[in-house]
Amino acid sequence: MLSQNISNKINKSSWIRAMFEEGEKLRKIHGAENVYDFSLGNPDYEPPVEVQNALKKYTSDQFPGLHRYMNNAGHLDVREKIAKKNSEESGLPVTQSHIIMTCGAAGGLNVILKSILNPEDEVIVFSPYFVEYLFYIENCAGKPVVVSTDTKTFEPSLDLLAKSITPRSKAIIINSPNNPTGVVYSEKILKEIATLLEAKEREFGIKILVISDEPYSKVIYDQVEVPSILKLFKHSAIVNSYSKSLAIPGERVGYIAVNPSIPNVDLLISGMIFCNRTLGFVNAPSLFQKVIADSLDVVVNTDEYKKRRDFLYNHLIELGYSCVKPQGAFYLFPQSLIPDDIEFAKLALKYNLLVVPGSGFGCPGHFRLAYCVDFNSIKNSIPAFKALAEEIKGQKK
Ligand code: PLP
Repeated sequence: MLSQNISNKINKSSWIRAMFEEGEKLRKIHGAENVYDFSLGNPDYEPPVEVQNALKKYTSDQFPGLHRYMNNAGHLDVREKIAKKNSEESGLPVTQSHIIMTCGAAGGLNVILKSILNPEDEVIVFSPYFVEYLFYIENCAGKPVVVSTDTKTFEPSLDLLAKSITPRSKAIIINSPNNPTGVVYSEKILKEIATLLEAKEREFGIKILVISDEPYSKVIYDQVEVPSILKLFKHSAIVNSYSKSLAIPGERVGYIAVNPSIPNVDLLISGMIFCNRTLGFVNAPSLFQKVIADSLDVVVNTDEYKKRRDFLYNHLIELGYSCVKPQGAFYLFPQSLIPDDIEFAKLALKYNLLVVPGSGFGCPGHFRLAYCVDFNSIKNSIPAFKALAEEIKGQKK
């Protein structure tokens, strides 16, 4: 029954799932507390109290009609509140008409790509990348073009980017704070990218949409600033979600904010609303649109994430691992201690450590650790990382 296309894709996309399944096996043998599972980016927090209170409020009987169909772009009052925030952050006249509520960032990305791509149009993604991007682009008949970042910083390399833009380039996906590296792109590099894109748009007579995938924009440390993409790129749209900032990934709510400076922006937005409907999302979940609108200034406890980042990062460095210190999201992306990251991840299983090989993110020679897990588990995992490093050192002698 299964199509060849989907069958091939399932095989290509199985790293995180494969690790999860290995974890299930190990947990049965050794007990959950003795398995250190850094494989999944699934927040271990409960939603903040403001979210829980809003949920109680909107499930009372004071909101008749709340559970019905609505405008496919979402509730007007919710979009007004989100527009106001985006307008303050970007300094642009963002109004409710530029906001589309979506089923998480994943839904938003598919809606944008579906509305802009002609078959074989190219979409640039930087590696390491969130692996789903490739599938989302192919869902919409586009062609992913992967451009490596500089692995010393994990920021985009301008030279490589310049070489990858062609007359078929239609969009570029930026993800900062980044999954899997946790890196936050500086304003400097973003401005350089903006200058480059404008030059290439003129050279080829094309328009390139910058799609900024920002589910981690509030999960940041060390007072780092996440620059406003709407402010820096005229042809841009941001995709945001509350999955990580409010720890509600199962509730599927996010939004698209389209830059009001895009020529014929109303037509583009009509296309996106149409795609939100016809991709089968119809609209973002009604109840959770209302809930997040009451919690726009709320974020999960990032101090606790920071404590985990610092502890894990400092210990790994002490043990001889190398890693770019990230300022956002909840991932570390260290170098694997042997060149073959897949072998490395398999070796880690011997110490009940579940990590995802960098090859799964288009960046071999590294591995991803998702530290959205209990602090005790992180603490207890350190001897396992030590034993793993010692075994490899021993083999190298
Ligand atoms: N983009 C990135 C970079 C992610 O890491 C994720 C989820 O892990 C998503 C998008 C999807 O987020 P959502 O749950 O909001 O659809």
